[in-house]
This record gives sequence, C-alpha cells and structure tokens, in this order.
Amino acid sequence: MLCCVKFANSHALHLIPDHSHQMAYKRKTVPLSYYKISEMNTIRKIGVLTSGGDAPGMNAAIRAVVRAGVYEKYEITGICRGYEGLINNEFTPLYRHSVSNIIQRGGTILKTARSERFMTEEGRELAHQNLIKAGVDALIVIGGDGTFRGAMALGNTYQYPVVGVPGTIDNDLYGTDFTIGYDTAINTVVEVVDKLRDTAASHDRLFFVEVMGRDAGFIALRSGIACGAEEILVPETETSIDDLIAKLENDYRENKTSGIIIVAEGDDQGGAFDVAKKVKEKFSFYDTRVSIIGHMQRGGSPTCMDRVLASTLGYEAVMALKKGERGVMVGQINKVIACTPFEKATKHHLEINKNMLKMARILSL
Ligand code: ATP
Repeated sequence: MLCCVKFANSHALHLIPDHSHQMAYKRKTVPLSYYKISEMNTIRKIGVLTSGGDAPGMNAAIRAVVRAGVYEKYEITGICRGYEGLINNEFTPLYRHSVSNIIQRGGTILKTARSERFMTEEGRELAHQNLIKAGVDALIVIGGDGTFRGAMALGNTYQYPVVGVPGTIDNDLYGTDFTIGYDTAINTVVEVVDKLRDTAASHDRLFFVEVMGRDAGFIALRSGIACGAEEILVPETETSIDDLIAKLENDYRENKTSGIIIVAEGDDQGGAFDVAKKVKEKFSFYDTRVSIIGHMQRGGSPTCMDRVLASTLGYEAVMALKKGERGVMVGQINKVIACTPFEKATKHHLEINKNMLKMARILSL
C-alpha cells in the first residue's frame, strides 16, 4: 500500500510506498500534521540514471550505488536512457547481482541520452509523475553540468530529492577535482598520440591532433603535457596563428623535424583541420597531417583511478541521501568528500591551470 503526503510549501504529492512491491497506489491528500517530519523524509526506493555523454566509469558508479543501496536496505531502480527514459517509463529493478562484472566495462549498462523533452515543464511533469507511480522516493543522477541543471529543475519544482555524481570526460565541473571518465579519456589520448609520434618522427611530419573539449581544455592540457606536445591550443585562451608559426619556425631552426600540436575542438581558431590549414598557408616547411581522435575518447575500460573515483562517489551519493542531503553534487576535493549545491556546481566554471599551460610551453622548447 502507498499513501501520499502533501508538502506544506508545494502542491506536489509525494507517495510513500510500503515494501509490498505493488505498483498500485492511492491518491489521497493527508494533512501535514498527520506525519512526523522524519516519516516524510523516509526514502525507501532510490532511482539511478546516467545522462548526457557517456563516460568510462559510469558502470562502476552504478554498481556502487546499487551495492551501497542494497547494504543500506534501499530498493534500487535503474532508469534507462537518462531523462528520456524517465519520461518514457523505462524503469527496471536492480539487485546486487544485476551489477556483477560491470566495474571494468566502459559505456553505461543503463544507456544514456540527451532529452529535449526534459527541457520542458511538461516533460519534467511527466517524469515526476512516473517517479511517483513507480514509488521512487529519490534519484541519483550520473552525468555532467547539463544533467545537474535538469536535476535542479526537477528538484526545485517538485521538492524532489536528487543527488548528483559527476560523470563526464570533460572534467569541467566545479566541486570536484576530477570527474568520472576524465582519467580514462586522457590516457586514451596519450596512447593514441604516442603512436602518432612514432609515425610523425619517421616521416618528419607535423601532426595536428584534435581532442574533445568544446568549452574546456582540460583534456587537451593534461594529455598534451603527458605527450610532450609542441603546442596545446585550448578554448580558454586566445590562439594566435602568428605566434604558433613563430614557435614552429623556432623549432625548425632548432632542428626539430617533427611535432605534435594538440587542438581542443572548441579552440577559437577552429578544430585541427582549420588550424592546420591556417598554418600551412603561411608556413610550409613541415609536411602536415591532421588526426581527429573523436569518440574513441569516450570508450574503453576505465582506468584504476576512474574505477576508484566512481566507486567512492557512487557510494557517497547513497550515504548523502541517507544523511538528508538534497540538490547537491557529491565530489572529491583534496581527497575529501564534498557536497556542492547543483546551483554552484553548474554556475561556476572550473578553470584550467594556466601555469600548467605555460609550463608545457617551456618543457616543449
Ligand atoms: P556531458 O558533459 O557529457 O555533455 P551533460 O550532462 O552536460 O554531459 P547535456 O546534454 O548537457 O549533457 O545534459 C543532459 C541532459 O540534461 C539534456 O539532454 C537535458 O535533457 C537535461 N538538461 C540540460 N540542461 C537542462 C535544463 N536547463 N533544464 C532541464 N533539463 C536540462
């Protein structure tokens, strides 16, 4: 049997399920005074979804949510295809064995999607109704800043408890030192660029390598340092083609016969093809090639660091809900678990360390 509670400051009906596993529910408004606050806050069933771009380590985070939830005696429901699945009622119960043998797998067993409909009030209303019907009392969302903006809209409108886990290869979220998937993505870039370096050196070629990062240069910066790139172009700084050519001319004079230029896809001069073309028009000493690493950066088995981070943050998300945290992203700052309100995590932009960019230039002389 399920009963519903009308919150004092909203018209939202929150249904508190018993453990009968029944889908039927009774819509009945009960005066607030009938319930103790602690009863109102009781969470019995937690939903988990992955949303936005997939990131290696999302499976490890799902596993941690399920296992920690089962340990704490919560029922766990998986929602397929992110917010789109919430609207389409794609709910599936998850048990401890449902997440066996997935910690090492890239992608997400729950699948992911970008949902236009969830951006509308009607879409979110439908999603909320489906959560209530399924008796899901709280949600853990794994994704990036867009996912948290959606979580904030749902949570604020319906006073619905949501906790976020940062899962994105971009590493651009305020409130955590690293996001799940970033370490695997940069290691993929390093592996690919090391291979390109071999062929570049053998043929005396200059490679322009495009990596992901529409708005942020975290992937470009860290992988560029690790590969000893001759130059790293990121969206956060203005790129001067003349300065780049001056640097390449200097390299040429210093008898560098090949090189690697890492270009974040969101660089103000365009992607790797555009930059290569602009350089070639003015400076043709090097034989140039372009390589776009693309979606390879999203796939693959997560690194040890991503598996541990995902396990930790998935576990801590369940504990945060248990402690009464709502509307926050669970992150890790200086090895300490930190809960940052969605508003802050999405409004503030994490900045790349410009000193590291300077260091990379000096080390590639
Ligand atoms: P990534 O960093 O990998 O791109 P992300 O979570 O930022 O991941 P988005 O596509 O930006 O990916 O967001 C995921 C989904 O969140 C969107 O498809 C949309 O359904 C929802 N969403 C984003 N912004 C909002 C918003 N302002 N209001 C409601 N829902 C939103």
